[in-house]
Parts: sequence; C-alpha cells; structure tokens
Amino acid sequence: MKFDVNENNIPLDKIDEDFLTQKSINLYALREDLIHSEISGNKWRKLKYNLQEAKEKGFNEILTFGGTYSNHIAATAAAGNKFGFKTIGIIRGDEILPLNGTLQLAQDNGMILKYVSREQYRRKDEPSFVKSLEKEFGSFYMIPEGGSNALAVKGCTEIINNINIDYDTICCACGTGGTIAGIISSTDKQVLGFPALKGGEFLSDDIEDLISDYSMQFNVQITNNNYQLICDYHFGGYAKVQSNLIGFIHEFKEKHNVLLDFIYTGKMFFGLYDMIQNTNQFDNKTIIVVHTGGIQGNKGFEERLGITI
Ligand SMILES: *Cc1c(COP(=O)(O)O)cnc(C)c1O
Repeated sequence: MKFDVNENNIPLDKIDEDFLTQKSINLYALREDLIHSEISGNKWRKLKYNLQEAKEKGFNEILTFGGTYSNHIAATAAAGNKFGFKTIGIIRGDEILPLNGTLQLAQDNGMILKYVSREQYRRKDEPSFVKSLEKEFGSFYMIPEGGSNALAVKGCTEIINNINIDYDTICCACGTGGTIAGIISSTDKQVLGFPALKGGEFLSDDIEDLISDYSMQFNVQITNNNYQLICDYHFGGYAKVQSNLIGFIHEFKEKHNVLLDFIYTGKMFFGLYDMIQNTNQFDNKTIIVVHTGGIQGNKGFEERLGITI
C-alpha cells in the first residue's frame, strides 16, 4: 500500500519573539499540520499502520468513533476516500443540522454517520454494542475513539524522525494520549503534554496503557520516564474557548503566519508561552512544539462564534 502524503519532509519553523531572545530560548514548531489538508498531523500518524493492517487483513470497511468536532472522524473519512475504504463514523449525541464543517467534510468523503446517545456511546467498547454494529454494517476493521491504539502509537513514534536539530524539550497537545505515548516511546528528551480536556491528570493511566500495549506488541523496551502533563490550560474543557485564546490564535497567525487550532494547538502554545514568561525553567533551552494540525475544525468554530481568525 503506497501513501502519497507528505510525512517525511516536515519543516521545523523557528518562532521568533522578543521574550524568547531575552531568555536565550530557541523555539521551533514542527509543522505536522502540513502532512495533508484533511488527514492532518497526528491523525495521519495514527491512521497509517491501522490502514495498512486493515488492508492486509482484507477489510474494506473501517468503523470508528468520535464527537462532533473530532479531527479523527474527519481524517478517517478522508483517508478512507483516498485509500479505498468504506467508512462509518459512530458520532456521540444527536444529529444537528446543518452539519458542522467537520462532519460535513466526513460526509463529503463518503463516511456514513450514525448518531448514538451519550449513554450508548459510553458503552461503545462492550461486545454487545459492537455486535449490534456488525449486524447493521457487516464486518469492519474497528479503530478506537481518537484513533489511539498500539498501531497508532507506532505511527506517532515517527513524528520525531523529521527533527534534525538537538533539543531539550518536546511539547504536544493531548486528547486520548496516543500521540504523546508515541513521542515518549521514541525520544530520551523531556516531553510535555498539554491536555485539551478538563481533568487531564487522569490521562496518565491511559498513556501508560498505550505505551505498554505498544511495547508488548512490538517487543520494544520503553525507558523514558521524563514526561509531564500540564493540566492548567484547558480553557474550561474540550471544545471550550475563551476570548484570550481567540486573541492569542489571531495574533500568532498575524505574527508568524502559522495557523493554530482552537481545541489543541492554540491552548498548548498559549500555555507554553505563559510558562516560559512566568518561570525560568526553559531559559537557555531548545524547545520543539509539535503542531499536530486540526485546522479543518476551525471553520466550524469560527461559524459558531461568529468570528474570523
Ligand atoms: C487529536 C488531536 C490531538 C490529540 O491527540 P491524542 O493522540 O488523542 O492525544 C492533538 N492535536 C490535534 C490537532 C488533534 O487533532
């Protein structure tokens, strides 16, 4: 299976700010968002080996799960369209018409959207629920919510392949923890994760589980314990925004010509800037920030909020 996405030529953009120069900090954005316009950033990394596995096992249908703003849903639909899989998205909550940009994109890429109540969605991993889906849609290759499993972690270990400089710290935004699990598994540097959800502290168990699944399945030893979750920059929770965050994303784009998303990368950059300015822990360091993409979701946010970035 050949993938023609741009995954091996990711630029490392230097981000210049006066406060960084004053503290002798080198800050770089790893532009994973440029992998593909619809299958962006970490969502491609997480899908890659799952698509390969699905093809090798002879599946032509992929089923997965997500909320209404899920970049994973949008990416799976686009990947299915591009690589010849039928796709089914199990969406949490009621259908709201007109569809937001994320779900419209998924539908335009041929994904069948099935809405389930929040109660049903919570039971999505129970065998009886999966059986009922098989009855409805036939046999499928199932990818978990957010795309995170051992194969996804393997894909995310490749994120660091494009870093060609020495660095002290690498940062990424976190949802389900698959991306940071891959980064932790592939570097011996300090790793900082910025959960986009409230209560992100609970994510460390999931991250440990994903690392150990990956480690067992691929027989690799993971020794990096130097990682930390920064849980103070969720802005009220997943898909919640505040005016200071909107202002920050706007300014960042004007100043650096790099567009951030509202759910993940905007919050991470905001948080990192805040920490850099208010502590000295990063002085004289080189920091890599992974831009995991997610820009397709901005349209829906801008419509909902009545703004343009
Ligand atoms: C999904 C997503 C994340 C979170 O990735 P996880 O592997 O679920 O932790 C981060 N950034 C962006 C842009 C995303 O779309």
